Amino acid sequence: MTATPERTRLTWDYSPAPESADHVRLRDAYGVFVDGEFADPRSGRAAPTVNPATEQEIAQIAVAGEEDIAHAVQTARAAQAKWAALPALERGKYLFRIARLMQERARELAIVETMDGGKPIRESRDIDIPLAAAHFFHYAGWADKLAYGLAGRAHRPHGVVAQIVPWNFPLLMAAWKLAPALACGNAAILKPAETTPLTALLLAEICQEAELPPGVVSILPGDGATGAALVRAEGISKVAFTGSTAVGKNIQAALAGRDVGLTLELGGKSANIVFEDASIDQAVEGIVQGIFFNQGHVCCAGSRLLVQESVAEQVEAKLWERMQKLRLGDPLDKNTDVGAVNSGEQLERIETLVAAGEDEGATRRTVACDLPERGHWFAPTLFTEVSPVHRIAVEEIFGPVVSMLTFRTQAEAIEKANNSKYGLAAGIWTDKGGKAFEVASQLQAGVVWQNTYNHFDPTAAFGGYKESGFGREGGAAGLRPYVRIS
Ligand code: NAD
Repeated sequence: MTATPERTRLTWDYSPAPESADHVRLRDAYGVFVDGEFADPRSGRAAPTVNPATEQEIAQIAVAGEEDIAHAVQTARAAQAKWAALPALERGKYLFRIARLMQERARELAIVETMDGGKPIRESRDIDIPLAAAHFFHYAGWADKLAYGLAGRAHRPHGVVAQIVPWNFPLLMAAWKLAPALACGNAAILKPAETTPLTALLLAEICQEAELPPGVVSILPGDGATGAALVRAEGISKVAFTGSTAVGKNIQAALAGRDVGLTLELGGKSANIVFEDASIDQAVEGIVQGIFFNQGHVCCAGSRLLVQESVAEQVEAKLWERMQKLRLGDPLDKNTDVGAVNSGEQLERIETLVAAGEDEGATRRTVACDLPERGHWFAPTLFTEVSPVHRIAVEEIFGPVVSMLTFRTQAEAIEKANNSKYGLAAGIWTDKGGKAFEVASQLQAGVVWQNTYNHFDPTAAFGGYKESGFGREGGAAGLRPYVRIS
């Protein structure tokens, strides 16, 4: 008998496939967007926004100060009364128009999102921008059906709402905030994050193109001080914040005793639980999607991987093999899986926590790859031999770093998953539907995915338990934070 000849292993390589940014026309400088117009900031201040993959300045951006905020509140209050008085169907038409214009400018928005934030173009093109438009479509539909969404209860808008968003999904978070607020008849003042203001400013242009009445949406770029001043401004009736738990607590304290509505969407340390009966290959893809999507800059990232002991070795081996196939590099390249870390400051945070993981005795493996010379980068990293008390098992890293722990029984998996001050999301990998429901019902997490991860839909409510915040965004539940029930 002749032996089967050994096959030559095929190795695939990729040619560069950069998305062209030639047609993107950005201004050299952006002001504040108030009363339907761009204007120089009254603060007289500006700061650059920088491409984290090249460290090159893209544009100068206004830093709004207290006078800008007071002006925005004044024009928003005047606009809100008229906006709320419009027939609901008409409000819906404006949202629909914004959604259509976002679709028309989708390619430009995706490129700018990637240049400003560092995320792979594949993600901004296929996930961030389409989902942002879908959010506006969804709430365009709700505008004249609020009574159904609010179970027939009498309601009225808050008035002027202040909305503060982080840098990890800049346009998507803006859409999550603006679309329900406007559908419910509020005027909104949005503050984008200091490192990623550009797509919010393009959205301001879209509001102009959609002929949205001036003052209904204001965009005030700026830093943490701008956000802090906006939260404390007179004339604001509600604050909606997405960002870190520390800043969320600060905002909650600042609003104590004031009749100002508040929703907080904060951090997380979400458990991705793999049972021994799961399809292991599918679970490994889900683990990768759960933690390396957007370089791990995801509030609901599956950063705590809990694997049943009987399959732990197999999962670890397959995960490590899969991780080595991830392509890190130019975010504008269509083949890139892992882009640039959003800022030098964020890179430092990741490095500090990874060093703590090593110091505390966990075993670190980082994918060996060439990091570009300029920009901020961190290669995909797996920690094993992790104990539940290690900082890398407790604190949010917000980077491409997964900490693997094991469990023996279902009860232990639930206990370990809930052993966190956070409670944003969780993943369950099993082929038993009954087990998935049983476990999901005992998890303290706002979102639970079964046999998938990081799957978002405008019709589904998203939000946290415990220190991951309160209030829901998305679906009918996302209307409730934007009305007062009378
Ligand atoms: P951050 O809290 O530092 O900043 C978020 C926003 O708040 C920015 O616009 C910032 O300028 C502003 N800000 C900073 N200090 C402020 C203050 N004192 N008062 C008012 N505003 C202030 O968070 P970040 O580092 O930009 O974002 C990462 C965090 O956001 C992570 O913890 C992540 O989990 C969380 N996040 C949560 C969700 C969610 O839906 N739960 C979504 C995305 C990000």
